[in-house]
Amino acid sequence: MRAIAENGDKAARNMALEALGSDMTFRNLRSVPNLHLEVIRKRPFSFMSAGEKQRTIYTANNEQALPGVVVRAEGSPATCEPAVDEAYDGLGATYDFFWDVFKRNSIDDEGMPLNGTVHFGTNYSNAFWDGQRMVFGDGDGEIFNRFTIALDVIAHELTHGVTEDEAQLIYTGQSGALNESISDVFGALIKQYTLKQTADQADWLIGSGIFTDKIKSGGDHPAAIRSMQAPGTAYDDPVLGKDPQPAHMDAFVNTFEDNGGVHINSGIPNHAFYLAAINIGGNAWEKAGRVWYQTLLDPALKPNTKFQRFAELTIENAKRFEVEAQVRDAWQQVGITPPS
Ligand SMILES: [Zn+2]
Repeated sequence: MRAIAENGDKAARNMALEALGSDMTFRNLRSVPNLHLEVIRKRPFSFMSAGEKQRTIYTANNEQALPGVVVRAEGSPATCEPAVDEAYDGLGATYDFFWDVFKRNSIDDEGMPLNGTVHFGTNYSNAFWDGQRMVFGDGDGEIFNRFTIALDVIAHELTHGVTEDEAQLIYTGQSGALNESISDVFGALIKQYTLKQTADQADWLIGSGIFTDKIKSGGDHPAAIRSMQAPGTAYDDPVLGKDPQPAHMDAFVNTFEDNGGVHINSGIPNHAFYLAAINIGGNAWEKAGRVWYQTLLDPALKPNTKFQRFAELTIENAKRFEVEAQVRDAWQQVGITPPS
């Protein structure tokens, strides 16, 4: 967004500045720890049994008031409006993944209902989790398509809710980059699980389809927000600039921007997960995904955990799945060598 604000035409500049402005408001809301989850938990949901999802999709009708008006509730038929149905299906795919693979009952593991608001703002070019719901902009149509288009982006945002409920990784510096990376890992896994792709069949792109075809890729794949296989190649475009993600500790970026580079240095743990999944082979969610999930639930994972300690914990958790060597090798390839 900063690059677009500097390099874009007038309309693109205005879009980026507006997204940056409202983004700050909601990110600040999210940094109030667990406030929203606590409020939600107090509501009685005894009529729901575990494994049953409860989705509600609202429309903000291109304004910025939340939650907006209900357009599709659980069990009601498709509306044939792409943003509404994609949001409904994306929330459903995310719920199903966490339930089927980990027996986790929604974000808080207590059956929390999943709410989404579409058509937020005018040409709003982002999606976010505000602690209570997923919110999706329509994009400006020039640089960004509608944000419901990519399942991994929906899953990424909901996974922030899971992280907030479990490890509460502080959203700055290395712990913030781990928070971001965990959302990318489960975003990618949920897409792969839904498409029934093995680790070597997957594209390992985050947000493929979010950019219009005017945006140039930095690799041999469609432009995307991030690449876990080759961080730094997701896009390379005159307006957006080049994907700034490093894939190795040698290229770690020290910056005050982006909460200390949370969306930049996440490339390093992202690539470690990709390498672990490729080393192990088969479906990434079956072993590599379980190792990362158990690490996320591990009481030893503290809110201020950095890359080195996180790597150690994944290796510890890899033992019970007999993939310790593959996980250790993955971290070594990104420049992190945990003690043996
Ligand atoms: Zn995120």
